[in-house]
Amino acid sequence: MSGRVAPAKRPRIEPRKRPPEERIRDFLEVSLELTAEEAQSEAARCIKCKNPACEQACPLNNRIRDWLVLTAEGRFLEAAECSRQTSNMPEICGRICPQDRLCEGACVLGIKYEPVAIGAIEWFINEYAFRQLGGIPHPEIAPATGERVAVVGAGPAGLACAEELVKRGYRVTVFEAWPFPGGLLIYGIPNFKLEKWVVERRIAYLRALGVEFVCGIRIGEHVTLDDLFAQGYSAIFLGTGATIPKRPKIEGIELKGIHDALPFLIRNNVEQRFLPPGDWRRDDLTGKTVVVLGGGDTAMDSLRTARRLGAARVICAYRRDEENMPGSRREVKAAKEEGVEFLWLTNPVRFIGDENGWVRKVECIRMELGEPDEEGRRKPIPIPGSNFELEADMVIIAFGFDPSPVSLEDPRLKRTPWGTYEVDENKMTSWPGVFAGGDVVRGADLLATALRDGRDAAAGIDRYLRARSR
Ligand SMILES: Cc1cc2nc3c(=O)[nH]c(=O)nc-3n(C[C@H](O)[C@H](O)[C@H](O)COP(=O)(O)OP(=O)(O)OC[C@H]3O[C@@H](n4cnc5c(N)ncnc54)[C@H](O)[C@@H]3O)c2cc1C
Ligand code: SF4
Repeated sequence: MSGRVAPAKRPRIEPRKRPPEERIRDFLEVSLELTAEEAQSEAARCIKCKNPACEQACPLNNRIRDWLVLTAEGRFLEAAECSRQTSNMPEICGRICPQDRLCEGACVLGIKYEPVAIGAIEWFINEYAFRQLGGIPHPEIAPATGERVAVVGAGPAGLACAEELVKRGYRVTVFEAWPFPGGLLIYGIPNFKLEKWVVERRIAYLRALGVEFVCGIRIGEHVTLDDLFAQGYSAIFLGTGATIPKRPKIEGIELKGIHDALPFLIRNNVEQRFLPPGDWRRDDLTGKTVVVLGGGDTAMDSLRTARRLGAARVICAYRRDEENMPGSRREVKAAKEEGVEFLWLTNPVRFIGDENGWVRKVECIRMELGEPDEEGRRKPIPIPGSNFELEADMVIIAFGFDPSPVSLEDPRLKRTPWGTYEVDENKMTSWPGVFAGGDVVRGADLLATALRDGRDAAAGIDRYLRARSR
């Protein structure tokens, strides 16, 4: 019987996940790569739409239909090559993009059946290709232009920009504040979503292509953008991200035991070899109750990290409901499987401490959803008199991030009211020759949008430098 079912109607083949009781005891990747048979069979569910909605929904406009067709035919190497044409990190996007909000969310099969597991296939074909080819294959490099470009920030935006410029024949130096390149892929996203060796492999590939990395230097402090131009760089790309934590102005916020999410994630997920000298001791949360405030990816990662550190109860308090939360559904599901408790429509109003100044409780208020705001999301409104208290040994704040510009004062770099850099259609800022992209332009966003900006900025820099030399 099952042989006669049209492929599209077959149940979707999800990547298998390690059992929750096993995975909360380590920090290794939770999802497992598809097998060749699974990838081929799942790709065959694609109905080859004429105007694929998934490709429009992908920030990189990946040629998804083409590589699904190739995968369904078992032509994995060609499929991977096709996916590399539009993406600088397809093996990473396949692992961590919130596909339910992007390509898979737009897949028309999802209307009646289940969307194709696009991300899992993207992950498989690329890992397959790297295994077969002995690493990431090198692209063609254009003849040297003789010009040098500086990239500030080695996150996905900066790395994509650097790669695209090297391919166009530029000499590129990437300046990075942390001791190792990768941005949030190393210093933020936990290993259980993305193991560090996957990022290290990309960095090794970029070095082999000729990208030069200068790490442990914060541009704007000792070396300015003027210094970089004076050193002979013809253009500069700023991919400095958005990692300044937003902190609520709530009574008791200064209590001990209240932590910002990103430093918590870094000290508990990043191995010593990536860290500068300092006290990076891991938290021991054995038997503790941890309350995480927020509903995005950072909150989900903090909750799941707290579980792995031995916390007995891990509670997420978020002011909207599950339907209206910003985080990926896949991550919420994984957190629930790992025993995280969710309190929807809940907002903190006050932190209550003990006589030694340590947080002990979070006073919360229940919320209801009102009219949609300017982004179309329903606004949470407090319900008067619905206050209640939550016990907490540790509170983690994951309320999002503000942009991290290189310099706050320089009037040559115009910023929006939200603190992000203003850029034109070429990704050039108000300072001629200085370009920007990724989270520092969009506000905290996604891997795929950062890659997109890095690629677009490289094209913009190329156009700018060619026009200048004419
Ligand atoms: C905890 C967490 C989990 C996430 N999970 C996901 C996910 O699952 N899927 C997804 O798609 N996205 C996720 N994101 C978002 C994604 O990581 C970011 O959108 C993406 O990394 C942005 O790339 P970027 O290059 O703009 O900035 P970043 O990755 O932040 O890189 C910026 C780099 O610039 C460096 N820098 C800053 N200032 C200077 C300076 N003055 N001089 C030198 N270097 C400087 C920083 O040290 C950093 O390395 C997550 C984010 C967080 C915080
Ligand atoms: S980059 Fe992200 S959105 Fe685009 S196809 Fe891959 S998983 Fe989907």
